[in-house]
Parts: sequence; C-alpha cells; structure tokens
Amino acid sequence: MSRKSKRILVTGGAGFLGSHLCDRLIAAGDEVLCVDNFFTGSRQNIAHLLQHPRFELLRHDVTFPLFVEVDQIFNLACPASPVFYQKDPVQTTKTSVMGTINMLGLAKRLHIPILQASTSEVYGDPNVHPQTEEYWGNVNPIGIRSCYDEGKRCAETLVFDYVRQNNVAGKVVRIFNTYGPRMQPDDGRVVSNFIVQALQGRHITLYGDGSQTRSFCYVEDLIEAIFLMMNTPHDVTGPINIGNPNEFTIRQLAELVIEMTGSKSKLVFEPLPSDDPRQRQPDISKARALLKWEPTTQLQAGLAQTIEYFKHMIN
Ligand code: NAD
Ligand code: UDP
Repeated sequence: MSRKSKRILVTGGAGFLGSHLCDRLIAAGDEVLCVDNFFTGSRQNIAHLLQHPRFELLRHDVTFPLFVEVDQIFNLACPASPVFYQKDPVQTTKTSVMGTINMLGLAKRLHIPILQASTSEVYGDPNVHPQTEEYWGNVNPIGIRSCYDEGKRCAETLVFDYVRQNNVAGKVVRIFNTYGPRMQPDDGRVVSNFIVQALQGRHITLYGDGSQTRSFCYVEDLIEAIFLMMNTPHDVTGPINIGNPNEFTIRQLAELVIEMTGSKSKLVFEPLPSDDPRQRQPDISKARALLKWEPTTQLQAGLAQTIEYFKHMIN
C-alpha cells in the first residue's frame, strides 16, 4: 500500500539545514510548504525545487502569525551563525520566541505535530562533558550570544508548556554543530570560514589558541535524525541531542582543512569572542535508543563534500 503524502511546513526552509530537509521530504513523497524571510537563507539553496509540483515557497516572517493548512511543522527559522544572529539580536530573540509561539499556535489549532530546532547552545559553556539532555546548562543571560541561547531556551520552554497545557505533539531536537554544502561562505562559522580561507589562500583565523572543541555532524546525518524524530509517537517529546560525538579541537580542524585542500594558508591567532564555549560534545545515547540512529559520516568524508561545494561556489 502506498504511503499517503503529507503537506509539511518547513520554516527556515531556504536556509542551510532547511533546504536539505525540504529535499528529504520531497524524496519521501511529501508536499513541502517552505516559509522563509530570506534573512540568512537564499533562493539558490532551493532553486532546484522551485519548479517541483510538490514544492511551494512562501516569503514570510514567522514573527507574524501564519494561517495555512498543513499536517506537520518543522520550525527551523532562526539565524544560526554568531555573525548573523548578532547582526540584529532583538530580531533573533523575536524569531525564536514569537516565531515559536506562532508555530505552536498553528500546531494547536490544527492538532498536528511540531518539531522545534533547538541547539547545543542551550548548554552554554558547559560544565558537564559530554552534554546529556539532563544537564541544565551554563548560559550567560546578558552576553552577546544570549539573544540566540536564551531565545532558544525560551522556545523550548514554550514547546513544553504547549505540550502540558494544550496536548500539542511537540518535539525538541538539540542540534550540535552541523556542516555541509549550502552553508553561506560569509556566515562566519568555523567550517565555512576555514574552507573558504584555505581555498582562497588567505590566513586561517583561529580564535583563542584553538584548543576549544566542537563535534561536527554532517548535514545528511542530521537531517535523517530530525526526520525520524518527527515520525515518533505523540508522547515522544525529547529534548534529544542530535550530533556527531567525535570531538575535535578547532586547531585540529584547521590542520585537516589545510591538508585536504592542499592550501599554503598559515594559521593566525585572533582574540576569542566573549562567551565562546570551551568544549562541546553530545551524548547521543537517547538518539541511539529512541531513533535507532547514529551518524555515519566521518569528518574527513563530510569535509571532502563540503570543500567540493565551496570550490564551485566561490569560483
Ligand atoms: P540558516 O541561517 O542557514 O537558516 C535559517 C533560515 O531561517 C534562513 O533561511 C533564514 O532566512 C530563515 N529565517 C530567519 N529568521 C526568520 C524569520 N523571522 N522568519 C522566517 N524565516 C526566517 O541556519 P541553519 O544552520 O540552517 O539553522 C537552521 C535551524 O537549526 C536554526 O533554527 C538553528 O538555530 C538550528 N541549529 C543549527 C545548527 C547548525 O549547526 N547548523 C546548530 C544548532 C541549531
Ligand atoms: N572559530 C575560529 N575561527 C573562525 C570561526 C570560528 O576559531 O574563523 C571558532 C569559534 O571561536 C568557536 C568555534 O570555532 O570556538 C566554532 O565556531 P562556530 O561559530 O562555527 O560555532 P559555535 O561557536 O556557535 O559553536
């Protein structure tokens, strides 16, 4: 028997992760309503979908109410790189808080599931390592990252209150650093920065001494996990960590990018931005048990795809 196609709303669908999610949903036979205000997303990311009969694009800012008829909501709208979310911090908080209220209201009215894209940033500069979902985090409420971190924390609060108060099927995924094709070359995130700098033969900018760590997940692995999470039973809410537990120092990443691109770029050290987390590694036991999922793409393989993408993009 063929699976009934669903109509699925993806907010932030023209962004890096959102556009890959749209691809995954179209491949699964669903209809996609992509909603985006193009703050950080681009038409380029979804250009290949614009003529698809099951794809529809709506330019809209999620801080304003949205009245549509859909079967599921993936709420991804929000700038994600420090450079972009700090450009207009008030709008960043509004997007997380008001945008999530609007999408939860829609889910409540339609009695449909909603998946909220949260982040490892809810753990702040963590004192527990690796981070489990039980850890409450160590977040500065008034710093330059707070618009994003606290906005996302409040969005989680809203999801769980709609679950308790209105029986909405809310699902929260805490996404750890993810990379891959369709990142913006100028978004300031470490993977895009290092690859673009290496390909252009510019200095590789290490903030601090490069000993801080991150755990990098390839985009395809990540998308599969959030697709699986959406299709869990009503009472599976999370929060659930999604990421790749292989941890690297930022210096190791820089050296790997130089080696893989064959670049002559040199490392230079710049000041560490304030509140930059010292370490980050997801404990993904819950994702393994609940979703029967774990990432399969090693950093070197994912970087190879990403380097290829940027080679074409910036030339
Ligand atoms: P992105 O910036 O590429 O995508 C975000 C998209 O949301 C963009 O297309 C942007 O135009 C859109 N958007 C922003 N504000 C909006 C608004 N008010 N109304 C409508 N659209 C709006 O970032 P991404 O990396 O694809 O991240 C997607 C989601 O995943 C975000 O919610 C982010 O917080 C979360 N996340 C990403 C990562 C990561 O490593 N990529 C890690 C943790 C969490
Ligand atoms: N970083 C760096 N050089 C860069 C960009 C980032 O050393 O050109 C560092 C940054 O200080 C942080 C890590 O790389 O410690 C990851 O930064 P990113 O902005 O990608 O993600 P986040 O800090 O939000 O995890």
